Amino acid sequence: NIILGIETSCDETAVAIVKNGTNILSNVVASQIESHKRFGGVVPEIASRHHVEQMTVVLEEAFNQAEVDWEEIDAIAVTEGPGLVGALLVGVNAAKALAFAKRKPLVGVQHIAGHIYANRFQQEFEFPLLALIVSGGHTELILMKEHGSFELIGETLDDAAGEAYDKVARMLDLPYPGGPEIDRLAEQGEETIDFPRAWLGEESYDFSFSGLKSAVINKIHNAGQRGEVLKKEDIAASFQASVVEVLTAKTLRAAKEYNVKQVIVAGGVAANKGLRNELQKQFNEAQIPLLIPPLALCTDNAAMIAAAGTIAYQQGKRAGLDLNANPSLELI
Ligand code: ATP
Ligand code: MG
Ligand code: FE
Repeated sequence: NIILGIETSCDETAVAIVKNGTNILSNVVASQIESHKRFGGVVPEIASRHHVEQMTVVLEEAFNQAEVDWEEIDAIAVTEGPGLVGALLVGVNAAKALAFAKRKPLVGVQHIAGHIYANRFQQEFEFPLLALIVSGGHTELILMKEHGSFELIGETLDDAAGEAYDKVARMLDLPYPGGPEIDRLAEQGEETIDFPRAWLGEESYDFSFSGLKSAVINKIHNAGQRGEVLKKEDIAASFQASVVEVLTAKTLRAAKEYNVKQVIVAGGVAANKGLRNELQKQFNEAQIPLLIPPLALCTDNAAMIAAAGTIAYQQGKRAGLDLNANPSLELI
């Protein structure tokens, strides 16, 4: 099958063409980061307007790079949620218009399922499989027993991992998006501050990042009052050490308890060097196969939506032309 994927849930306008759910023919992403940077975050109205402006350009580029024509496309997969409603609507309406005009089946894709399927470009999934989702809006451990089936093992009780990175970055006056900036600084710093680890009890697979965030604020505030100088690099390294230790330990414990054949990592924070290194080290030692997508497939893209859409298409799932954006669509 050849599936066209469309993704507009946040601030990247993305179109991709994927063969058999495993082979990327093209993957075009127009990022709006520069337009949102001066506001310190994503401005929904600006995001929607950019998507409208970019959609046809990105679509054309995806066809050019893939060197396929419309006759070869079996279906159109589009992110229906979660995300910003105005942003999602641009992708959903584009997909519906194309499905109607080109007489192609339409498939709705949940964005987090997309992040998970970004791993299938490297290797075929083997079940049961544990997925660690660490993105801008989600932090979850998901158990998959077969394609398209998801069970929630644990989730964040407050902030998502990416959100925590972005908030701490703001406190350090770093530009948006903060995750990559903290990652870069952390490499140059040392763990000189002992920030708390949110274990939430021995048995828990849930996460919490708001206490850590407050600890960072307090530390900066107190140091300021005492005239003590803290290096941003060390704050970043210490914050990251706490996040990485908890994410890695809980994922490893869950992988053992559920006796999974594979562990996959998904979402923007999977691009984090500290997290990638620690996961690789620990899973290597435990001899449990670990998959992490290449950097470009960690953050939002349409190849992952086409990949998840391929499974849905093969399972016979179809959306009608009444498909609507659902800003709070859940995976499970
Ligand atoms: P969701 O997927 O939950 O709907 P989203 O699509 O906004 O949210 P993603 O695109 O998956 O999120 O990821 C963006 C997040 O990843 C941002 O919070 C960003 O700071 C973070 N991020 C990106 N690169 C890194 C990195 N190297 N280290 C840490 N965080 C990172
Ligand atoms: Mg984004
Ligand atoms: Fe995302």
